[in-house]
Amino acid sequence: MNHEAPWGKWIAVGVILLGIAGAACAAGFALGVLAGPELARRLPAAEPAPEAATPRSRPSPSPSPTATPMPTPTATPTASPDGAREGPKVFAADLPDPPPVPDWAVGLAKGETADPDRPIYRIGGMLEPDRGRLRGRLILSLPYREGPPLSAICFRAWAHAPSSGGARLEVGEVWVGDQAVRPAWSGDRTAFTVTLPVPLRAGEEIAIEMPFTVTVGSRAGGYGLMQKTPDGLLVLYYGYPELARIREGRCVLDPPWENGDLHQAEAAHFALRLRLPEGTALSASGVIVQEASGPPGWREVEIVAPYVRNLVLVAGEMEEIVQERNGVRVRGFFRKAGAREAQQAVEDALDALERFGEAFGPYPFSELDLVEVPLRGGAAGVEASGLIMIGEDVFGMGDLGGMLGGSSDLDVPGFVIAHEVAHQWWYGMVGNDAYREPWLDEAMTNWSSVFWVEQARGLEAARTAWDLLVLLPYRLRLAEGDLPLNLSTDDYSMLDYAAIVYGKGAWMMEALRQEMGEERFFAFLRRYLEKHRWGWATGESWQETLAEVWGRERAEAFFRRWVAGSGITSADLPPSEFGALFEDPSLGPLLRTLLEALIEAGP
Ligand SMILES: [Zn+2]
Repeated sequence: MNHEAPWGKWIAVGVILLGIAGAACAAGFALGVLAGPELARRLPAAEPAPEAATPRSRPSPSPSPTATPMPTPTATPTASPDGAREGPKVFAADLPDPPPVPDWAVGLAKGETADPDRPIYRIGGMLEPDRGRLRGRLILSLPYREGPPLSAICFRAWAHAPSSGGARLEVGEVWVGDQAVRPAWSGDRTAFTVTLPVPLRAGEEIAIEMPFTVTVGSRAGGYGLMQKTPDGLLVLYYGYPELARIREGRCVLDPPWENGDLHQAEAAHFALRLRLPEGTALSASGVIVQEASGPPGWREVEIVAPYVRNLVLVAGEMEEIVQERNGVRVRGFFRKAGAREAQQAVEDALDALERFGEAFGPYPFSELDLVEVPLRGGAAGVEASGLIMIGEDVFGMGDLGGMLGGSSDLDVPGFVIAHEVAHQWWYGMVGNDAYREPWLDEAMTNWSSVFWVEQARGLEAARTAWDLLVLLPYRLRLAEGDLPLNLSTDDYSMLDYAAIVYGKGAWMMEALRQEMGEERFFAFLRRYLEKHRWGWATGESWQETLAEVWGRERAEAFFRRWVAGSGITSADLPPSEFGALFEDPSLGPLLRTLLEALIEAGP
């Protein structure tokens, strides 16, 4: 190890840390970029007091990763925030009808087919960017495949999560077949339960219909996943009632967690008919199959989006760049990025789709949207199904390698775009519980991002990416000792979540690659994808798949050491130009204080 302190390099790092922090107007951004694109969305500084209109009390999460907190929503229905309760006919009076079930193939890559035995959301709605809301009517068809009879179905209202910036979801009367049912809200209003008039048995199908209105909040906090900008851009990440996952006959209803993403949904098919103001650009998961003019001043679009875990809508004034390669279309939507940066972003996305497709298995959709969004609270990028959001601040960070005085061709936008594109495989195709086992998608995704840098930008750029964008927080953590990789999100502190899930996790994948050899490692990735496609992976099934490819003994030993264990030291990491500084007994604490101060500072 090099004990000579590379002072010049450290100063460059410091300048970048501070520069990024200043540029983003959110100090956590620096660490977010260092640790992984989504890290900084958990910063408390971005989270002012909740609005009175959306009372929430967050139950304490379980400290044990094996415990399964499933709070039962309150039995007594509570009034909606403004006391309004309207029947669907009133709600639906000026709404377009939900479209019929479409041919899903239009949203899929050639050769892919849609499993008809999935939840189907059909939504007819009015998207009103100037009012910051979507009013809609949802018809959900739910085929119940297997399990004990269900007495209730539950929905998530992530709009009410602390990270949603004070957004609201109101739901009118819920109809199960021809019977009206009052939804019963959970105490924190992030879930509601619909008690079924007759229990639903395996092999049966049910249709649930409800009017809903989702309105973005006015809080400055939040991450920008639910927001309306002063110039009229509307971002809806949690823009509809989301069917809660059902496990062993019960709804999975974890209270919103602080670290990482609120992803827990089954892959479902979506068909939407939306009315929106004429002249408004729309980016959405899936593909827009039809456009027509509506009533004066409005146009109507139909969207087909198969296999969606999170459906996102972004509407407003945006410049669009469309480019197609190998039958996949990337639609880029930009506002502030320069023409060259925008073009580069679309090309990076196409390139990542192609390289990941070859390495892991083909991209399943016919389209991917890349949308520049003014993310806040330090977020660099956010994944959704068939759509990735890239923070507008990211586009200014083109030439990181050059800023460091080196010759490596590393850039922050490419790294972030590759990360979010990789989520189409690890999160989109292979689902996992982002609360209980966040490492499954984040570790593989962050590794995939460096893999893309290595392939697209070269080995030197990849080395810099490992050193500066991935492993720095982990080295910091290792000064105090290691932690297991497979804990639930809330078992980590903010810094540890970044260090372990994004840092250790990504390097765990690289260590696996080195131990297995290229051929077997990629065979493992392909098999893992094939086995869990559109379903759910767990730590256990991850290890089981590894055992199938590599042998049980080796798989178990590797899992014990890198995933379940906490015995990794800096000697297990690659040599670092910067990491040695953090281990320096006189400098390390100072640098840790600096990073912690960066996190604490408000936007
Ligand atoms: Zn991620």
